[in-house]
Amino acid sequence: MSLALNIDHGSAPRPQKSGRQDLLGLSKKDISAKLGDFGLSDRDARMRASQLWNWMYVNGTTDFGAMSNIAKGLRADLAQAFRIGRPEIVSEQVSNDGTRKWLFRFRDPAHPNMPPVEVETVYIPEADRGTLCVSSQVGCTLTCSFCHTGTQKLVRNLTAGEILGQVMMARERLGDFPGGVRPTDGLVPHGDSRAITNIVMMGMGEPLYNYDNVKQALLIASDGEGLSLSKRRITLSTSGVVPQIEPTGSEIGVMLAISLHAVRDDLRDVLVPINKKWPLEQLLEACRTYPGVSNAKRITFEYVMLQGINDSDADARELVRLLSKIPAKINLIPFNPWPGSNYVCSDWDRIESFADIVNRAGYASPVRTPRGRDIFAACGQLKSETERLKKKDREAFML
Ligand code: SAH
Ligand code: SF4
Repeated sequence: MSLALNIDHGSAPRPQKSGRQDLLGLSKKDISAKLGDFGLSDRDARMRASQLWNWMYVNGTTDFGAMSNIAKGLRADLAQAFRIGRPEIVSEQVSNDGTRKWLFRFRDPAHPNMPPVEVETVYIPEADRGTLCVSSQVGCTLTCSFCHTGTQKLVRNLTAGEILGQVMMARERLGDFPGGVRPTDGLVPHGDSRAITNIVMMGMGEPLYNYDNVKQALLIASDGEGLSLSKRRITLSTSGVVPQIEPTGSEIGVMLAISLHAVRDDLRDVLVPINKKWPLEQLLEACRTYPGVSNAKRITFEYVMLQGINDSDADARELVRLLSKIPAKINLIPFNPWPGSNYVCSDWDRIESFADIVNRAGYASPVRTPRGRDIFAACGQLKSETERLKKKDREAFML
């Protein structure tokens, strides 16, 4: 049984004075510059920015009034000019396997008349880790034929603050900030570790089509004086936006996952249509030369198991051959159905036979267990009902 909660605390929009700029998602340098506008010297602005950073990202504070090491007058000025945003929680569901899914709503206080947007974020707890699956866009411009998100047109890119807002709100709900309380429903990892130990950019949207915001959000998430998530515990998944792969390695430095799903261009053109623009050879070359790639820092190749489409033994052998020169991990994902999907998941014998070939080539435990299917939280099942805005409205919104 899954549980749909109507959250009382936390779901109500927090009081917001319109026009206040959100500090979440700004770099420390930008925050210093904004503090300089209050007349602080460079040195003071840098010091205050570090204090704010600590309150925001280490303590999870959203209330300037609670920032006890900042002078009272400055706290009041900050509260007048800024806010530290959180999304509203539209719903929070817990699967019978402990997976948790939120539907988050973002409003832009600078444009209160524009419709809000909604995205889904999923928390996947395991015994020794907890992974947060974060969205980068509302909908997706791409139309991978087996993906539910692909049926929702792109509404807009999320800002860096909105990408981070998912992490902050999830941490808040999971009691991951100092003094927080762990939920008693669902699961969190054993021991004293944080509830969220890993982030995967595998929610709604193509992260490399929203590169600047994703980069900014991930650099903040991995900042050692803030959320401090190790870059080895952050994975960005792309359908194959080849020109952005090198910068992802050199500028962000997180782990890379590739939605491969087919070993021949003719089939990949259908399953992952971006392949028509950047075919397999170019994609694999970008992987071979991914900055920092090594046997200790392998690229994950995701491969959805579609019955009778891409799941033969010959496909498995070709997969192993294609990846032979790349430090790779292989993740076989049983297809997760959604209403109206035209595919069927390969049966278990077929997946085992495919996995055996992959195993024998030296890749360990390659099958990803589907999680949260009962609440539609599994890979490729995310979709929000946010309507696509007319171009004119969208442009007005992005101003
Ligand atoms: N847009 C990025 C990030 C999404 S990650 C990307 O495509 O890589 C989500 C992963 O789940 C991708 O590998 C995606 O191809 C896969 N996926 C999509 N729909 C799926 C489905 N119905 N069942 C299983 N996996 C799916
Ligand atoms: Fe977009 Fe990724 Fe879904 Fe393809 S698989 S439609 S790129 S979210």
